[in-house]
Amino acid sequence: MPIKVAVIGRPNVGKSTLFNRLTGTRHALVDDTPGVTRDRREGEGRIADLTFRVIDTAGLEDAFDDSLEARMRRQTERAVEEADIVLMLIDARAGVTPLDAHFADWLRRVRPPVVLLANKCEGRAGMAGLAEAYALGLGDPVPISAEHGEGMGELYDILRKVAEEKGEFGYDDEEPEDEPTAEFAEPGEDEDLVEEEKGPIRLAIVGRPNVGKSTLVNRLLGEDRLLTGPEAGITRDAIEVEWQYRGRPLRLVDTAGLRRRARVSEKLERLSTADTRRAVKFAHVVLLVLDAEMMLEKQDLTIARMALDEGRALVIAANKWDAIRDKNAATRMLRDRLDTSLTQVRGVPWVPVSAVRGSNLDKLLDAVLETYDRWNKRIPTARLNRWLEAMLEAHPPPLAKGRRVRIRYMTQVKARPPTFAAFVSQASELPDSYVRYLTGGLRDEFGLVGVPIRLHLRQRK
Ligand code: GDP
Ligand code: GDP
Repeated sequence: MPIKVAVIGRPNVGKSTLFNRLTGTRHALVDDTPGVTRDRREGEGRIADLTFRVIDTAGLEDAFDDSLEARMRRQTERAVEEADIVLMLIDARAGVTPLDAHFADWLRRVRPPVVLLANKCEGRAGMAGLAEAYALGLGDPVPISAEHGEGMGELYDILRKVAEEKGEFGYDDEEPEDEPTAEFAEPGEDEDLVEEEKGPIRLAIVGRPNVGKSTLVNRLLGEDRLLTGPEAGITRDAIEVEWQYRGRPLRLVDTAGLRRRARVSEKLERLSTADTRRAVKFAHVVLLVLDAEMMLEKQDLTIARMALDEGRALVIAANKWDAIRDKNAATRMLRDRLDTSLTQVRGVPWVPVSAVRGSNLDKLLDAVLETYDRWNKRIPTARLNRWLEAMLEAHPPPLAKGRRVRIRYMTQVKARPPTFAAFVSQASELPDSYVRYLTGGLRDEFGLVGVPIRLHLRQRK
């Protein structure tokens, strides 16, 4: 069950506008729920990879004859009953009205999980209202613009947290199963399987300020051949942009985060880790952009490690390659640094590009597709265990308390990233060096270069 999100507030604050934005034209199935109340709308909401039910209460204000307060209370009661989280909207341009205050009083007493959204905050017109909103005592107001789609990243964080707490969001964080099940049974063939994924490849473009991220995004999207039909209604202001490359759908996530920073005239030199982390969480593949003239500084490495720690596929774009004079030396230097600094994942792919000239972008996107496929790979259990046998024979696990540690069996419990379980007789006694021996072997044998690999040890007698 997806989480339920109720949108409430006095008339005219923008509830319907938010409802429409969250449910989107792509998910235009606004289903009237007959028999519940004739005025309420429910729909499937979606921000990036997070889906949820949205309950819109707009229009309910007119459904009853009694006082507005009573009507609003009824609306709230119903929302509170059903929702996992309540979004209370105010109109930040109008400021806090007595009705808003009355509403907030009531909510504070009922104590539902509630987030205060100060709507119509595009531009600066909402700033005064935003400040007033603190006085409502519902926590920090979150500035958004339902009409312009601003603040959707913040809303995503809030809703995702609710979903995670309810255990409804775990597409790649779930614990591997203890027992291999039918799901992992292979068709008996020896070739590796790439999991068929229907959705687009979610790509995040991250990097320090001024490395050329915005230039690269504009280049990628500016190419007519890249733009697709069905999503053409989505503007570049949207949080997501979708296009096709070699017939495969790619979705650029968190462009709003990019734009937000690009718009600031005086660029912040400090890297916004919160923005980057959010983009990384959105993504399947993280495209880290470097300035080739200042390659792999500490901050670059921090982002790279963040992506790998989150289990994402990583591709590096060494941008501004046009400005490099000694390209051989630069190539050597980058290789060296990658080898010595990103030791947990061997072979992270990198591609020299020039966003300004648009050169080598095909190679870059090819690397994205290839890395994504490796990240999705599934290795048949029979093949995995044949390989394991050879590994154990070549280099047996050490003795622990006089007995040999036995690895009985291995299975890939999931992809994205490739995650394996090994069933071990004395799991706690298997040294890290041996785990590294196994993960390194997996990488070499099954071509898993450049993607994070997870290996969980399970205790088995
Ligand atoms: P509801 O009665 O709460 O459902 O409010 P609506 O969604 O019908 O919006 C009321 C009015 O506010 C409409 O004219 C909207 O176009 C406008 N509106 C909604 N969101 C925004 C926003 O983010 N910025 C601005 N400037 N106007 C908005
Ligand atoms: P962002 O902060 O990462 O979004 O970086 P921008 O896209 O705003 O670019 C920062 C600066 O680097 C701008 O002056 C760009 O013109 C310049 N730049 C971007 N890509 C290239 C490139 O491929 N070659 C060169 N020489 N300059 C570039």
